[in-house]
Amino acid sequence: MQNRRLPSPTGELLISIRLSIYAAAAAVAGLLATGPVHAETAPLPVTEIAPGVFVHNGVHEEATAANDDAIANVGFVIGDNAVAVIDPGGSFREGAALRAAIRARTDRRIGYVILTHVHPDHIFGAAAFGPDHPDFVGHAKLPGALAQRGKYYLRRLREALGAAADATELVAPTVLVSDRLELDLGGRRLALQAHEPAHTDNDLTVFDENTRTFWLADLLFVDRIPVIDGSVVGWLKELHQLTRIPADRAVPGHGPVWVPWPAAADPERRYLEAVERDTRAAIRAGIGIADAYREVAKSERGRWLLFDEYHPRNVTASYKELEWE
Ligand SMILES: [Zn+2]
Repeated sequence: MQNRRLPSPTGELLISIRLSIYAAAAAVAGLLATGPVHAETAPLPVTEIAPGVFVHNGVHEEATAANDDAIANVGFVIGDNAVAVIDPGGSFREGAALRAAIRARTDRRIGYVILTHVHPDHIFGAAAFGPDHPDFVGHAKLPGALAQRGKYYLRRLREALGAAADATELVAPTVLVSDRLELDLGGRRLALQAHEPAHTDNDLTVFDENTRTFWLADLLFVDRIPVIDGSVVGWLKELHQLTRIPADRAVPGHGPVWVPWPAAADPERRYLEAVERDTRAAIRAGIGIADAYREVAKSERGRWLLFDEYHPRNVTASYKELEWE
């Protein structure tokens, strides 16, 4: 069996205890309140890029209190029976706003929350979907990555967002994908694929067969510089496979809400190839790891947003990967 559901022996008990607490709290609040207990969360702006496929366009910034860490492209797909969220966003607040965007369009069950990889800007909104009791679907290596980095990422988010990070929690996947998995939303199927180390070591992509929309998440960066946190060699290999899959449009993790596929992968491939080639050359020339970024992929400078913020660390990561070849 390729995919397994994680057992949760105490889950139902906890849920029923929580429900009784909520019921008691709601009763008290009902007695005391003269208006709604919570202000309505404003729906996250989303674009319907194909029938039933909605994407929120992340801003090209670092996480701040002003942007709620809503810096990645996230969204959802509506089927006849269920809704699948493809990345719940970068904070509880963004997740709640995304949920409000779904509820503004449909009351169908939110059955799945797909976590495309470990990076906080994509998955830290997951707790906002707790009340829906969805399957949280992630790569088989996601739990390990969360165990290694989750607490650090959470601390960093709290430093960056302050009170705007409140209620943001780590949510572990409940369904793991080690190869492929199909999700049936009713009248539409999503094909999920787990990838070898590329952007990270736990990347998932999602293909909506009805509209031939390919969600690449952070395997595809457009305009914003790609972040190499898995393997530059592996990423180029995955990209070679991915670009052979025909699709009507692709959703990048960062960039416009949709782009033509596979043409939109060209700049990313060019950057990754330059990093791989020039890093090998720098290693051969005896240039140290701390200085290599000055020599590597110089022609790419000015072609990407946030280049100076991320290029040096991309080169460091690639240097470590390539130096023992
Ligand atoms: Zn990422």
